[in-house]
Amino acid sequence: MTTKTTTHEFQAETKKLLDIVINSLYTERDVFIRELISNASDALEKYRHESLTADEPFDGHVPLEITIALDEKEHTITIADTGIGMNRSELEHNLGTIAHSGSNTFLTHLAEAAKKDVSLIGQFGVGFYAAFMAGKKVRVQSRSWDGSEGHEWVSDGSGTFSITEMEGLRRGTKIIIDLKEDAHDYAQKWMVESIIKRYSSFVPFPIKLEGETV
Ligand code: ADP
Ligand code: MG
Repeated sequence: MTTKTTTHEFQAETKKLLDIVINSLYTERDVFIRELISNASDALEKYRHESLTADEPFDGHVPLEITIALDEKEHTITIADTGIGMNRSELEHNLGTIAHSGSNTFLTHLAEAAKKDVSLIGQFGVGFYAAFMAGKKVRVQSRSWDGSEGHEWVSDGSGTFSITEMEGLRRGTKIIIDLKEDAHDYAQKWMVESIIKRYSSFVPFPIKLEGETV
């Protein structure tokens, strides 16, 4: 068995974004859940679209849904989807650069907002990197609908990330967040449920929180 781990530097713009996300955005923290659910929903939508014309998509029988699991003892929140997934190269490029709409909008507003109220930035959509608002370490386990090997992407947001092959993954993406000491509340069901109801009530796929549909 080969378990090749590669380490990569975040692109400079990404580092800038991460620094702000980690150090300045306290009051808008709740939005990280909205951002990750929105990405999960996009991934499910992409899979649904692709699977219409595919002969035999990988894990074609798996139901299209978003699952959120909490661990109050280990202080983790895990957001999983059975969407299109990412292969190794997609993990490296999609989660290492900010060539993406959400984060770009964020950066555009950054220059103006920086002088005023940095906390307002949260409303512009920070994208995936919002995970680092609440997470001291973020793990992304993903397997593409192309059926290639699955991988785990890991970072503490401080400049680099690593990617390692991982066996046994199903199609889709699972994001495991180790919560910062002052963000342990995000492992509490009532808290996460209220955030989902506030921000994500129009997501067109089932959201299951600790086994119950929200
Ligand atoms: P945006 O959603 O605006 O494109 P994000 O920063 O939220 O920007 O996400 C960056 C990219 O990472 C997405 O465009 C997508 O390609 C990839 N990505 C993020 N989350 C997932 C996911 N759950 N499943 C598949 N791809 C994802
Ligand atoms: Mg997004």
